[in-house]
Amino acid sequence: MILSEQKPFDEIIAYLEKDKNVFIVGCNGCAESSGSGGPKQVAEMKEKLTKAGKNVTGAKSVDFLCNKALIKSELKGRIDQIKAADAVLVMTCGIGVQCVAAAVNKPVYPACNTVNLGGSRGEWEGIERCYECDQCLLYHTAGICPLTACTKSLVSGACGGASNGKCEVSPDRDCGWELIYNRLKERGLLHRLNDMIKPLDHRKIAPRPEMMSTPRYGLENPPKAETKAEEVKS
Ligand code: SF4
Ligand code: SF4
Repeated sequence: MILSEQKPFDEIIAYLEKDKNVFIVGCNGCAESSGSGGPKQVAEMKEKLTKAGKNVTGAKSVDFLCNKALIKSELKGRIDQIKAADAVLVMTCGIGVQCVAAAVNKPVYPACNTVNLGGSRGEWEGIERCYECDQCLLYHTAGICPLTACTKSLVSGACGGASNGKCEVSPDRDCGWELIYNRLKERGLLHRLNDMIKPLDHRKIAPRPEMMSTPRYGLENPPKAETKAEEVKS
């Protein structure tokens, strides 16, 4: 289970400042149960964007946005609506946004932040990963996560140590920032490299204290058996 929350609408509208036509994608998996990107929230977002003067070319909820094959097959019938859009707004966790960005040749923007729950998340087959930083930056990086694609989790550009497209720390890995640069270039978004990205708020990359007593947190992080220690002592 991955928990996500919608970004403030002002932030979403700022992303879309230069884009009139928008296609919306929601997720019937974790985002629906988070109340951030299921069919209800997609319909609400469509209404809000229309009221804000945007033209919503289409909207679709897919069962799991963490599966690129499913995304491609579910969006096949919407190709014309996606082509008519200047940008695709994705209402789900960071993994889902990255998967849509890999599957659709358009600027793709996150409508949600992925909330840190600690522990590990469900398994998926793709290469996309998310550290649940709760301040999703994928708008600036063409849908490739700088925290997980870059070995040093740099959010403000490459370290300069890459060689032949490979990371200086792990030569078996592609340089994440080179991937970001190439994707930005391919989509006509190289100007995004001039974006001033705020420094990361590292307090957010940890479970919120008030969340640690919730059943959802307990399900993800079951308490360790304390009885064993007692048994050893006696
Ligand atoms: S920037 Fe990366 S780590 Fe942060 S929410 Fe987005 S995908 Fe996850
Ligand atoms: S070489 Fe690329 S992936 Fe490796 S640490 Fe530097 S910027 Fe990050």
